[in-house]
Amino acid sequence: MKNLNKLELIERAIHNDKLKKKLGYVCVYCGCTNRLILTIDHKTPLAREGKDEDSNKQVCCYVCNQLKGALKHEEFKRYLKNLYELNSLQKYSLNLMN
Ligand SMILES: [Zn+2]
Repeated sequence: MKNLNKLELIERAIHNDKLKKKLGYVCVYCGCTNRLILTIDHKTPLAREGKDEDSNKQVCCYVCNQLKGALKHEEFKRYLKNLYELNSLQKYSLNLMN
């Protein structure tokens, strides 16, 4: 992604806030609703040829976003499912069933 100047960063932050409002203030992976740590994540990361457009964006908490790294949405869901099956834990989120 190109370097953004201050005005572009502010415009991006405003746009991301609108997007969170539209998509809902909830992490698609863990169901976290703490607005202070909700971020906008690229389903297919930019590093993996994902596009920087709204159809490729989702709401995701900071923790899940960090864990997801450069994984694609479906790859990260598989990773979480495997992780929880290995640990015999309950489903991380009902969202994983989608
Ligand atoms: Zn999360």
